[in-house]
Amino acid sequence: MSSFPDNPLDSIVPRDPEGRQVGRVVAHHGKVVRIVSAQGEVECKRPHRQEWVVGDIILFEKDRPRTLLPRSSQLVRKSPGGGEDVLAANMDLMLIVTACGDFFKKPLIDRFLVAAAHAGVNSLIALNKTDLPGAEKDMEALKEYASHGFGAIALSAVSGDGMEELAEALRGKLSIMAGQSGVGKTSILNQLIPDMNRKTGVLSQSTGKGRHTTSMALTVPLPGGGAVIDSPGIRQFAPTGLEPEDLARRFPGMENLADGCKFRDCMHETEPGCAVKAAVEKNALSAERYASYLKILESIRDGREQEWWRRPEK
Ligand code: GDP
Ligand code: ZN
Repeated sequence: MSSFPDNPLDSIVPRDPEGRQVGRVVAHHGKVVRIVSAQGEVECKRPHRQEWVVGDIILFEKDRPRTLLPRSSQLVRKSPGGGEDVLAANMDLMLIVTACGDFFKKPLIDRFLVAAAHAGVNSLIALNKTDLPGAEKDMEALKEYASHGFGAIALSAVSGDGMEELAEALRGKLSIMAGQSGVGKTSILNQLIPDMNRKTGVLSQSTGKGRHTTSMALTVPLPGGGAVIDSPGIRQFAPTGLEPEDLARRFPGMENLADGCKFRDCMHETEPGCAVKAAVEKNALSAERYASYLKILESIRDGREQEWWRRPEK
């Protein structure tokens, strides 16, 4: 095993509270994974019956990575066939990237917030392309999210506005970026990591080349410490496949209220003793947030989920 004392991924090397030797998966490509630990970096095949993904923390035995430790968060993609793929694990933050203009859709932001809560990860909304004409209206709508207690940053990967604030928010954390294709995720990464030397759009274009590329995932260190996990699967992650019950329990801004409903499986529609509806009546929850909830609920039930996800026409 080689040792890299100046490893840029040092800040995400896990420390085990019980002092055992542990490492973090920082890249995987098919069955081969790369793991960093306090002792250095090692590449190995993952064991047959364990699914190791980027972000995972692995317990070593006799200096060899052996056992997957329980995850604090995981991003899961549900396939239409009913299967599930874990895309990344143990991340601290989901950066939900959206952009001014046609890309800005509150129902989509809400869905991403639900998906982040479902994954067990904190979220931060980044509104990109604030340099575009007419951006003020979307920035105003973003403020609403901030007033509801969500982290929200206005950005421009072109002018550089807000990039320092974003770098500060990501510092020391293991993050993933989610958002529709075209919102500027690649451009933001290139701004955050000046030597990344990756041309805008290259990764998404190369996914057609075959299974090797699509199964590749890596952890890109940030100059100030911390890292961003990047993979084609995460780039294409759509907050679909939610169950109505997920929404009822996790809708951002409603989570704590839902605990107070008379029925555990309350959908906050016409049930008696609904704490969510009571909060709307008392203006403790904005009618606008509640309306967004009902709209998304309806779209899930009608199987119209995908329409939120379509990329705006040029
Ligand atoms: P991705 O698909 O989310 O990775 O988005 P890209 O980074 O590839 O960006 C999509 C397009 O938006 C490219 O043409 C970028 O040049 C452009 N773009 C990215 N960020 C900004 C921004 O802050 N302002 C403007 N005006 N255009 C941007
Ligand atoms: Zn209720």
